[in-house]
Amino acid sequence: MTDPSASRSGWADLNTRLTRVGRPHDGTGFVNAPVERGSTVLYPSMDALREAWGGRYRGQLSYGATGNPTQHLLEEAIAEIEGGTHCQAVVSGLAAVTTPLLAFLGAGGHCLMPDSVYGPTRRFCDTLLRRMGVETTYYPPMTDAAGITALIRPSTQVLFTESPGSHTFEVQDIPALAEAAHAHGVKVLMDNTWGIHVFQPFRHGVDVSIQALTKYPSGHADLILGAITVADDDDWHTLRDCAIQLGQCASADDCWLTLRGLRSMGVRLAQQSRSAFEIACWLAGRPEVARVLHPALPDCPGHEFWRRDFTGASSLFGVEFAPSFTDAGVDAMVGSFGVFSLGESWGGYESLALPSRSPATRTHPTGHVGPLCRFHVGLENPADLIADLEGGLRVLREASA
Ligand SMILES: *Cc1c(COP(=O)(O)O)cnc(C)c1O
Repeated sequence: MTDPSASRSGWADLNTRLTRVGRPHDGTGFVNAPVERGSTVLYPSMDALREAWGGRYRGQLSYGATGNPTQHLLEEAIAEIEGGTHCQAVVSGLAAVTTPLLAFLGAGGHCLMPDSVYGPTRRFCDTLLRRMGVETTYYPPMTDAAGITALIRPSTQVLFTESPGSHTFEVQDIPALAEAAHAHGVKVLMDNTWGIHVFQPFRHGVDVSIQALTKYPSGHADLILGAITVADDDDWHTLRDCAIQLGQCASADDCWLTLRGLRSMGVRLAQQSRSAFEIACWLAGRPEVARVLHPALPDCPGHEFWRRDFTGASSLFGVEFAPSFTDAGVDAMVGSFGVFSLGESWGGYESLALPSRSPATRTHPTGHVGPLCRFHVGLENPADLIADLEGGLRVLREASA
């Protein structure tokens, strides 16, 4: 089995770059940039004001709502990590999803969404986008290029991808899907939150990459922030114009904390990735477990695409328990944990477990039958986490007996 941390170089390659990106250009000599808050920008002349208006697409400051210096340093850093050219920071990971959807879709348009998509993205499509006259078709995440081509209509504007999928962890064949979409002039958006740095979206045909900086980049469960990155100037103008009109910007304090978090992201992730893989392998050997949905394990749908396209794995994975166990049993197990905590979100230093409930309307092409639970592995000693799981599995057996 491939240990995503030991045999792959994804995190090591990142570490030097993470010490350099988003550092100050202001000549004070301090290692780090200050937090620069602000609304009004003062101009020496009308000519300077006019120039600032025109420079909003080039990172020039004109007003706090269109960006601040701390935000621009973070944007530089994220663009570099994602391998893009321009980045827009926004108030949350969810705003990093909804802003490009609004930028690249219009009334009468059509959007293709993976059935495994992050729940709030699904809700945005089913409510606000529908009200705006945009239709969404959900496709099984393992759909191949021919299947996507068959779903593309003249009105299709966006192919959305998320790989691996939220809760069910299907790894998508992004290069093939992107090629099929581009052949019909369809933009490819990807929620790359799981794959930060270990999936380089623009090398695989993605046009717009989405990050919830709330997760590993900030890394300490203490803020909410998102980023949208592109590699094409026309896409940047479309996206930037929409972000400005929506009033999307990011607090200098949160951007500063995220820049601070980024410095240690490589080492945190290498450690968390290694622990997660050890725990995933331990769980795969347990009789209570039907399948471990970790992209680096062969049981995970799309494992072959992970091997081909990713340089590592993060520390978030799913477990499908044997069908003899119940949702109530998994709830009891999660309630009994002492090291894993029960909570939403992930990417912090602390381990989390969250039972996954899939809406019944969702097609499950990968055929989950037993109850699902999602695990995020933090910086705790993996032996302590395994002992916690051992106790939890006993509760699961008792609750399901
Ligand atoms: C958490 C998450 C988001 C949303 O991020 P927030 O900052 O919590 O709004 C989007 N996509 C994925 C895959 C996520 O896990």
